This record gives sequence, C-alpha cells and structure tokens, in this order.
Amino acid sequence: MSDTQDANQTHNNEVVLFSLDALDIRGRAVRLDHIVDEIISAHDYPQSVSAYVAQLISLSCLFSSLFKFDGIFSLQVQSSSALKMLACDVTSKGEVRACASFDEDHADEDDFELGEGYVVFTIDQESEKDRYQGIVQIHNGDLVESVQHYFNQSEQIPTGIKAACNQDADGRWTAGGVLLQRLPDQGGKVEKTDKTDARDQWQHAMVLLSSLTDEEICDRDLSLHDVLLRLFHAEGPRVFDPIPLVKKCRCSRDKLLGVLRSMDPAEKADITKEPEIEVQCEYCAEKYKFSAEDING
Ligand SMILES: [Zn+2]
Repeated sequence: MSDTQDANQTHNNEVVLFSLDALDIRGRAVRLDHIVDEIISAHDYPQSVSAYVAQLISLSCLFSSLFKFDGIFSLQVQSSSALKMLACDVTSKGEVRACASFDEDHADEDDFELGEGYVVFTIDQESEKDRYQGIVQIHNGDLVESVQHYFNQSEQIPTGIKAACNQDADGRWTAGGVLLQRLPDQGGKVEKTDKTDARDQWQHAMVLLSSLTDEEICDRDLSLHDVLLRLFHAEGPRVFDPIPLVKKCRCSRDKLLGVLRSMDPAEKADITKEPEIEVQCEYCAEKYKFSAEDING
C-alpha cells in the first residue's frame, strides 16, 4: 500500500476499494467528514434524525461502490415510526445527497427510532430495463443489520459491515464504515479451500472487523489506509483506485418548475393564490421562488 500518489492522506470523502486475497474477500471503506457535515448542516434535523442520515450516507457510499452502473444508486428507508423516511442517493460520478422526513411533533423529544418498515435499494440507469430494485424489511430498528440481511438473504453474498457516526464538540458530523464481502466461488477455478476452511476464513475476517472501533472509523485525522493495515495487517490488504465523493444535489429551478406545472389544476389553483411561491428542495434545502405566472405557464 502506498500513499505517494494521494494528496488526500486521510482518504476521507472517497470510497477505498480493497481486497483480502488470501481470504477471497473484497472490501470497501469510507469516511466522510465535510460531505456528511454539510448535508446535515443544511437542515435543522433533531440530533437523532441527523445520526440516521449520517449512517445512511456512509452505507449508501459503501453499497453504491459494489455495483457497476451508470446513473443513480439510492437507498430509501420507509418506517412506520415518527421517523418516517430516510433517503440518500449516490450517482455514478460520486455525487451524494440525502434527506429525512419525520413527525415534527416529536422533535422536542429527539428520540427518533426506526419502526416497522422497509429499506429499498434502487439503481436507476438511462435505460428503463437496466433498473434494479431490491427490498428488505427493517430488522430490529437497525439500519446496518437490515442492509446486511439484504445481502445475506437476497444476494446470497455473506456481507459484514461495521459503521459509525459521530458529532464532535464543535458540532461537526463524521460518518464512515467498512464492508467485507465473501467473493462467490469462481466457476472453473480449482477450489483453493474447502467449505469448512471458507467458513473459518469468513469468521476470522468477521472477528477482525468487529475489533474496529467507532473512534477509528470517525477519526478525521487517521488515514483510512492505516486503519485497514492495522485491522488486516496479517492479510496484506490490496488497495485499488478509490472512488472520489462530492456533495451535490440534482435539483434545479427548471426541474421544480416542471413538477409545479404538472400538478393537478385544483392544487395548482390553490398554491397560485399567493403572488410568490417558495419551494424548498428537501435534499439540499435550497429555496426557489416562483410567481403564479411561472407556474401557470
Ligand atoms: Zn437540492
């Protein structure tokens, strides 16, 4: 592993791709500092909601890097609780945005949790036929457990995830995680290991992963490469070109105007009673102003 080509010595705000060849495992690691902080700071979410958003962002970045796609990867959570919805999407260019919706009446208590519901994985590509969607129930109100279950059950790929987020004394948010996946058997290759060995290797990797601390995941000044070396030094992790991430929303005045213009006539008549209509993007909180004439075309 070498840092010589990297200006970013901590590897924050990029997905670090790696493999543990001896164990037939592929891995992903991510730590987001200013991206997650800026996404959350744009809103006035209660702290417990912000923590879910931070966690969803890091999971979305990890997962999006597992798929080859040209478009948008999104992770959406629909819950029956006062925390109603979480959404994050990551484009194939590494552009990240996220938001949440919750019952404002509970904001003072700030004890939001996930209830019954679903986590939906979607990959939207140019062509409709390349759309992929997967769904899993929320398990034990835990986001990581739910998505891990998705890969284990739906994709039949043993997957281990350790994720954490943190808000420091200055109010700055950091989130990150490490994901390991057991590679499926390579057809036609001579099997290096029998099933028992493979299971032992996987369990060994899970023990190593569980030793990763939340502090290591969220320490903004600690190199992610160093974290991986510390964790898997005996396995000699092989690191590949990372995927850079940026905070970027896809909203625009034109897109919002299109939505407003396509509303049904009764709704349209209702909102255009005001001379000026302000619409806020739920993802980035950008405000757009429209006149009744704009909307009526
Ligand atoms: Zn926006």
